[in-house]
Amino acid sequence: MRVAIVTVGDELLVGDTVNTNAAWLGERLTERGVDVERVVTLPDRVADIARIVNEYRAAYDAVLVTGGLGPTHDDLTMDGVAAAFGHEVVESDEALEWLAEEGGYAADDLAEGTADIPRGARLLKNPEGVAPGCVIGSVYVLPGVPAEMEAMFETVADEFAGEVEHVTSVVADEPESALLDRIDELRDRFDVTVGSYPGDSVRVKIQGGDEEVESAAAWLRDRVELVDIEEESGE
Ligand code: ATP
Ligand code: MG
Repeated sequence: MRVAIVTVGDELLVGDTVNTNAAWLGERLTERGVDVERVVTLPDRVADIARIVNEYRAAYDAVLVTGGLGPTHDDLTMDGVAAAFGHEVVESDEALEWLAEEGGYAADDLAEGTADIPRGARLLKNPEGVAPGCVIGSVYVLPGVPAEMEAMFETVADEFAGEVEHVTSVVADEPESALLDRIDELRDRFDVTVGSYPGDSVRVKIQGGDEEVESAAAWLRDRVELVDIEEESGE
């Protein structure tokens, strides 16, 4: 399963807010064996949201959109997603009922637009807040507030699945440039995906089938200066 993540918000583009939602979703989806192929950040602008959602829903199995759901003037995500499908937004009776029952909000107390979702969308209740999310076609619309986004994602997490790959890291205490030949040979010899992440040391991340990854890691460990502590994950 291949997906794209679309994070919406002017505050993300100017650096006022760090885009933790993209990182959190990327990690959770990868854990489930889903391939995250795109992360894009868009301004709070209907035309941009509509264009990218339309392009990505054609290209990927699913699109996750976060941010810009509330009823304030700069919350335009529902309008953008609705436009991508050529639908209008409509007030959801189910959302109003849920807000009245679970949240104790009478319809008259809610800011206009709070319960709006694109026509034909499936409502996603917000376990941590007021703004509802929704699913339309293969597009999942989640709130921007991280705790709300995470709680709502968990309600649909089972809809995201793929083959979980085995992952092992070998941490080398050598400059990345010195490792290039050995990494090339590793890729030639073994049927694995290799990532190289330099920092104080270089973390070589090896991914693929269980046995192939372990053989590749053992081969590399014998040929590099190892850092004392090695990380392993992805069992
Ligand atoms: P709600 O209406 O439930 O409050 P919302 O969907 O309208 O949420 P926004 O108005 O876009 O969300 O943002 C709410 C808060 O969440 C802001 O403080 C914003 O900076 C933060 N936020 C939005 N997107 C992200 C993101 N990708 N990563 C981290 N924080 C985010
Ligand atoms: Mg916003």
